[in-house]
Amino acid sequence: MEDRRLYSPTYIKEIMRSYGFKFSKSLGQNFLIDGNIVRKIVEAANVGKEDHVLEIGPGIGTLTEELALRAKKVLAVELDRNLLPILERTLGKYENVEIIQGDILKVDLDKIIDEKLGGGPVKVVANLPYYVTTPIIARLIEDNLRLETIVVMVQKEVAERMAAKAGGKEYGSLSVFVNFYSLPEILLKIPKTVFMPEPKIDSALIKLNLRKDLPDVDRKQFFKIVRASFSKRRKTILNSLSSYGFDIDKEIIKSSLEAANIDPKVRAENLRVEDFLRLSKSLPPLDI
Ligand code: SAM
Repeated sequence: MEDRRLYSPTYIKEIMRSYGFKFSKSLGQNFLIDGNIVRKIVEAANVGKEDHVLEIGPGIGTLTEELALRAKKVLAVELDRNLLPILERTLGKYENVEIIQGDILKVDLDKIIDEKLGGGPVKVVANLPYYVTTPIIARLIEDNLRLETIVVMVQKEVAERMAAKAGGKEYGSLSVFVNFYSLPEILLKIPKTVFMPEPKIDSALIKLNLRKDLPDVDRKQFFKIVRASFSKRRKTILNSLSSYGFDIDKEIIKSSLEAANIDPKVRAENLRVEDFLRLSKSLPPLDI
């Protein structure tokens, strides 16, 4: 059993039986069963001998093993304690792999990167648990963690929203958020059939190339404006902002839009990151 590849469905079933492991739907456990996809993910992340990799949710270690064969060090954070003895069995032979039991939203990533991943830069590679995709992405990109790239499998629609450009129906506050911090690219669309158990939704592999120089702006003010602008998608930007509850006169919002060279009658979905940046500077400081 030891030498068989971890993406083999027969192997996964055998290992589950011998450890009495059952998939947890609420933890988003859909394991990869396609060796080609596993290789494509690792190749997309461009992982080489000098790289330090952070993996989120190793499962039984399928992607982790492929990463271990190519990277300098792989640190994987897994929430489900029941997977730890299995990971010991499947990955124990790799000296460059370390598993931490914990919730990726709660562990001290700054400390982990300092102490266990050479202080960065770090490449994140993961087949994410879909129920927490957005909080995970937000944490990874907002926290200034010395990450270089993030290559993750996510629900197809979420990938489309993350990578969307102004003008399309998928474009929203998540797109502005992701585009503010990174250059996103959808690399592959992935069918449900490469997972066990098979999920109801299709997936996509997305790469976020993190920007080194972020725009010089008050980020709190910027993201408040973005959220308020998209709060009522059908309304004009002037009406969305003036009905949001900021303590600012509609006339001031109108003149700030004009000062930022934005037509008050456009909708938020037509404004690019650069437009929101100008608007953020021309509006007075917002109270909520
Ligand atoms: N990497 C494996 C694969 O591709 O076969 C498993 C991917 S599965 C989609 C997601 C994994 O994330 C599961 O192993 C699950 O237990 C783990 N997980 C779920 N929530 C987590 C969290 N908050 N922090 C860390 N791991 C989590």
